[in-house]
Amino acid sequence: MQTESFENALLLAINPILKSIIEKFDVDCEQDGSLLISSLKDFFGENVKLCRNCESLNRKLANPLFEISSRLLRADKKFMKDRFLDQEYRDAWLKGFALMIKGVKKYGIQIPFTPAGPAEVVWNFTYSCNLKCKHCYEDAGPHRPELTTEQACMAIDKLSNIAGVGLPALSFSGGEPLIRKDFFEVAAYARKKIPYLSIATNGTLLTKDNVKKLKEMGIEYVEISLDGASKEVHERFRMVSGCFEKTMDGIRNCVDEGLDTCIATTVHRDNLNEVSKIMDIAEELQARFMHFNYIPTGRAKELVELDLTPKERLLLLETIAKRIVGLYLKVKEEEEKFGKSQIAVDRFFSTCPQFASVVKRLAMEKGEGFTVSAHYAAKKGVEAVANFLGGCGAGRLYIALEPNGDIKPCVFFPTNKHTVLGNILKASFEQIWDNDPMLWNLRKRENLETYEIDGRVIGCGNCKDKYICGGCRARSYSYFNGNLNAADIGCIDNEEIWKKVMKLPK
Ligand code: SF4
Ligand code: SF4
Repeated sequence: MQTESFENALLLAINPILKSIIEKFDVDCEQDGSLLISSLKDFFGENVKLCRNCESLNRKLANPLFEISSRLLRADKKFMKDRFLDQEYRDAWLKGFALMIKGVKKYGIQIPFTPAGPAEVVWNFTYSCNLKCKHCYEDAGPHRPELTTEQACMAIDKLSNIAGVGLPALSFSGGEPLIRKDFFEVAAYARKKIPYLSIATNGTLLTKDNVKKLKEMGIEYVEISLDGASKEVHERFRMVSGCFEKTMDGIRNCVDEGLDTCIATTVHRDNLNEVSKIMDIAEELQARFMHFNYIPTGRAKELVELDLTPKERLLLLETIAKRIVGLYLKVKEEEEKFGKSQIAVDRFFSTCPQFASVVKRLAMEKGEGFTVSAHYAAKKGVEAVANFLGGCGAGRLYIALEPNGDIKPCVFFPTNKHTVLGNILKASFEQIWDNDPMLWNLRKRENLETYEIDGRVIGCGNCKDKYICGGCRARSYSYFNGNLNAADIGCIDNEEIWKKVMKLPK
């Protein structure tokens, strides 16, 4: 029996048992509130006082289940405890885990995992922008109707009730989110209801005053787009003279204010050579670095030729992965020598799901068995759950909102009648999350297609790493006319398919 079918058979057997156990302790108690949340706190060592009934359910069912699951997943409990209880984002993490457990109750354990609601929503808050980037996925600029301030707050109310737990993390994006006059008002409202807030911005409006306001209102993370290490390269894409300096000032202002700051670069053929320099800038300024995949959607569709070849993408991912593997090894060395290390591992990221596969291979070459925990983050302690978190998170771990409230699986999907799943104000979010066929198609790696070329079977469907990667589904959608299950032709393993699509000789 193949491993895949063995795992599926095993899950088929244990899922009903797990569901019935969770059903018993996923209760709201008049005295204690959500027992699911309380039992998680208790598991991670917090002193929780419970009524007799809740105490008994926790001791007999919830606690043993968490204990066994964390052992089976080889999830490092100490790491998880540090993440949950001993740091400022504990509420976001607790909500995230509660959604995972409710996900098991609703859909059973699946590989990769589907929680009862998204861990994160990226909200393209406006269609407006003060730059004219050649590769904007939102085609920002032309005015289109957006949610009013009041409607935006109603959308937040809905998000804060998802699956009876509420959304853990919300990211404002755009267009340029800071251009909307009510940004701070809406973000302040969101702050009361959603534990982790972030913003993705072009950085030009990150004046000292605005950055102070972001900090004061509790925005946790700022991601700033930078397309080149020099004015010339950056402005060639952003199409507005003078924006480079403003963006660099914005990055410095955020770092100076103590915000978790990340430089985000969409990498294509005209700035590939800049990446190492941009990562050096990030290191020097003590910011993180995030590579964004080039996806031919929005205005980028007109510039398909800018997309990297599979070989170029592989080299790029290896360049980023080497930095993170290097950091990981340094931490290991320090821990062996001194018992602990202060070095932060999670400094260099990629939204490209093949990153997991590349990190895994480079780590193995160094005799290490770790990879990234999702397609964009590398954390020590959660290596074994990579299969469950599983690469592309579109419509599974994360979902996107348009400025008018339309729900889409990912911001990189074009907006059309097939990709808009409903509107946040008019539709039931749970109904969409639980039932939408497009979402379930995205969640099933078994649906990914295979291709026979010269006697070899290739494609994401035949890939050993499909559970930790799965390919970027938005890229497949764009390159294959709306086919969600086609190959991600940016991957080196699919190079032959890429050549066919590009009509290149073998
Ligand atoms: S073939 Fe597909 S699933 Fe496998 S590594 Fe490449 S993109 Fe990921
Ligand atoms: S489709 Fe998946 S891999 Fe691609 S950008 Fe969206 S979440 Fe990331």
